[in-house]
Amino acid sequence: MRFYFTEQQEKFRCQVRDFLEEQLQAGAFSVHSASLVGPVSREFSRKMAEKGWIGLTWPQKYGGQGRTYVDKMILNEELFRVQAPVGYHFSADRQVGPALMKFGSEWQREHFLPRIVRAEEGIDFCLLFSEPNAGSDLASVATRAERDGDSYIVSGQKVWTSGGHDADYGWLLAKTNLDPEVRSHLSCSEFILDMHAPGVTVRPLVNIAGVHSFNEVFLDDVRVHERYLVGRENEGFKQIMAQVDYERAGIERLMQNYPVFSRLKDHVLHLDKTALDAGRYAWIRDALAGLEVDFQTGRLLCYYTAWLVDQGGNVSSQAALTKSFCTQFEQRVNDIALQILGPVGQIGQGGPWRPPVFIEDLVESYLWGPSYTLQGGSVEILKNIVAQRGLGLPRA
Ligand SMILES: Cc1cc2nc3c(=O)[nH]c(=O)nc-3n(C[C@H](O)[C@H](O)[C@H](O)COP(=O)(O)OP(=O)(O)OC[C@H]3O[C@@H](n4cnc5c(N)ncnc54)[C@H](O)[C@@H]3O)c2cc1C
Repeated sequence: MRFYFTEQQEKFRCQVRDFLEEQLQAGAFSVHSASLVGPVSREFSRKMAEKGWIGLTWPQKYGGQGRTYVDKMILNEELFRVQAPVGYHFSADRQVGPALMKFGSEWQREHFLPRIVRAEEGIDFCLLFSEPNAGSDLASVATRAERDGDSYIVSGQKVWTSGGHDADYGWLLAKTNLDPEVRSHLSCSEFILDMHAPGVTVRPLVNIAGVHSFNEVFLDDVRVHERYLVGRENEGFKQIMAQVDYERAGIERLMQNYPVFSRLKDHVLHLDKTALDAGRYAWIRDALAGLEVDFQTGRLLCYYTAWLVDQGGNVSSQAALTKSFCTQFEQRVNDIALQILGPVGQIGQGGPWRPPVFIEDLVESYLWGPSYTLQGGSVEILKNIVAQRGLGLPRA
């Protein structure tokens, strides 16, 4: 592993920064910490597509650039530094594309991949995995997909579906072998589901921050043609385990609230030390330095994971370790920022109550905080992976 970026990588980072600066100056978006991928902007995704920055690591034959995961990490680090609105293409670029390249049919690859890379109209994906009784234990999904001629009839309920209300397609996990004697790990399959098909109902869930970001999705006898089955029937669980590494390996899990961290550093830098009790100032100094140590450690973990992906190794344990560390760092940023600001830090933006000492988005970011360590696999589940696959320990 090299602990420096090549000249080409540094140049790429500058290109991305220049583009984002241009977009910010033009008012294409503003810098806000909140949800993982922020608002959906097809226009922004289209501009990224013009640059060739969607499907950056994909082979050229599917419209990609064949670049490395370290390059992609650089791109994502810069995008998340300013919370660019990447929601339209993010899931498809991060997970759907790599999964289709690994398990999809040639028809599926040709039909979906170039459209994703071009950020075409109608190609926004959501992930239909979790259910009311299946989150950490995805193999327990109860949604059924039953064969009917050349189609499957899908019925069930999904939950926590981020962006389901905007999505055109859902990446679905459903049970295809209904024999109770067959182990649940061997009875699920993956499908691409048309979110506009008859029988699909999307209902909003408003989170504790007052934002509609995820949904419940009800599937009532939705007909899915067999050509939308991804990979082999009943091998969906095995496939999905390979895909979640892509979800866990990204630097977005370190930088969901980066603007808050950056504003906090700025705030402390401008504190009048003489106006504070010496002990309190020493604590603030120590806490902020501790966060910086953690941020730089998390950043190295992310780039190391990307480098491992480029080497073609199995990154399951490393991706789990990285996400576990990084998302807990994000929560610490919110906690420490609130402790530094004191009670006024709990006043949100807007209205006449905005306090003189203020870190924009801190309250929103704090309310989003609990979700950081849940989405994409909870810390406990990630630690189980590190224990079993990384350290070779037996199952608990
Ligand atoms: C903001 C947000 C966005 C999301 N977006 C999506 C999405 O787009 N699509 C989607 O499909 N899902 C999505 N999810 C769901 C997410 O993947 C699940 O919340 C997560 O996998 C945990 O599942 P659960 O909520 O059912 O909790 P449970 O699995 O019920 O877990 C509850 C608690 O028990 C612990 N626990 C469970 N099993 C074990 C074990 N074996 N060992 C130790 N501890 C354990 C967990 O760590 C957790 O603390 C999203 C969640 C959030 C918060």
